Amino acid sequence: MFDGLSKKLLSIFGNIRNKGVLTEDVIDSTIREIRISLLEADVALSVVKQFSQDLKEKLKDQAVIKSVTPEQTIIKIVYDELVKLLGSSNEYYTYKSIMLVGLQGSGKTTTAAKLANLFKTKFKNKCLLVPLDTYRPAAITQLEQLAHSSNIDFFNDFNNNDDPLDIATKAHSVANNYDVVIYDTAGRLYVDDKLMKELVELKTIINPKDILLVLDSMMGQDAINTANTFNEQLNISGLILTRVDGDSRGGAALSAKSVTNCQIKFIGTGEKIKDIEIFYPERIASRILDKGDIISLVEKAIDENVAEDISKVKFGKGFDLNSMETYLLQMNKIGGLSGLMKFIPGIKRIQEQLKNNNISDKVISRQIAIIRSMTKKERSNPKILDASRRKRIAGGCGQEVYDVNRLIQQYDNLKKIMTKMYEQGPGFMQNMFNNFKK
Ligand code: GDP
Repeated sequence: MFDGLSKKLLSIFGNIRNKGVLTEDVIDSTIREIRISLLEADVALSVVKQFSQDLKEKLKDQAVIKSVTPEQTIIKIVYDELVKLLGSSNEYYTYKSIMLVGLQGSGKTTTAAKLANLFKTKFKNKCLLVPLDTYRPAAITQLEQLAHSSNIDFFNDFNNNDDPLDIATKAHSVANNYDVVIYDTAGRLYVDDKLMKELVELKTIINPKDILLVLDSMMGQDAINTANTFNEQLNISGLILTRVDGDSRGGAALSAKSVTNCQIKFIGTGEKIKDIEIFYPERIASRILDKGDIISLVEKAIDENVAEDISKVKFGKGFDLNSMETYLLQMNKIGGLSGLMKFIPGIKRIQEQLKNNNISDKVISRQIAIIRSMTKKERSNPKILDASRRKRIAGGCGQEVYDVNRLIQQYDNLKKIMTKMYEQGPGFMQNMFNNFKK
């Protein structure tokens, strides 16, 4: 999402750096440019106006004008304002019963399963999924399959019952057996009276603790209008933005809280069941401003059990090719280099450079193939890899001796980095990437 906005903001901050001194004129033109980039990102006009006004007040402060590092001071202020705009997170909130509502195609059914899976894996909750979209049998089957594949209980007491109110009543009667019950209601292609009437009736029956509206972030400002209509009728408690992985400009995410007064609670980041995240304003603001999001990266690593495997990697002198293979496999697990890049501070600035250097996820897979062509002995003692062994290994994995030589060289570099990692601090990530140049 935010890629376009992010690029523009970074270039605006770059201009401040080039100008050196922060005059009133520079501040005015900076605010003007930020305003334009927000509008271009499809942020609602009212939100942009308020944002610019708040920014102006903060930037005209004498302490900012006299700052010796104006670029950093301004970035910090814009960051704080972005966080304010995005609202707050709900990390410690306890869910009990959720009625999911939204237009057809917004990603509601998928999100129902993703949420149940998130509660199950992260909070060890016992969840029940209740399908209420009886108008689309395919939606019921889809939810059933998703529930089944993730080992989540599915309310299947239809007996050819196609009355959502009746199903909701029955499901509600067993709700106490679960930590969280998620009701997947029907959607329409547009908001209509019949849909709303049914949802209002369902709300009375289920009496949900939360009504969450699923919105497709690709819909931009239209998503916000939809939110307002649902909110008027149902008094929703929060929003879930889906397709945040897509190339929407980010306007819906940045405008949602201000315009609808509803907080974004979760974001959908892909088609797979685990592609959902609790919404953290600070992390989103960090990604927009290229400050990196190491916390999400570490969480992702923990979710994928990478941390445990990485602990098998021996640092320093014990770092052999077995360790390198584990390390490369774990990198692939958390989305390869492209997946990792999103989280690294300052990466957008050097992304073009990385592209030009042909750093790709394919390189990692090829390196793993080379290591797998080696014997146990060779992996644990790479020093014995003479010319004839290297030739055999290259033949074994269909690559050139040159590729094997380069892997060994990269291994030597990586070993040095692994040894120095803790001493070196922030620079180690950059070095790590340099190591994967083609
Ligand atoms: P519903 O009609 O609202 O129930 O929508 P579905 O749950 O059937 O989703 C419609 C399509 O959107 C499916 O192909 C989903 O895989 C896809 N989808 C849902 N959420 C996301 C998301 O966060 N990212 C991406 N890329 N696709 C999503």
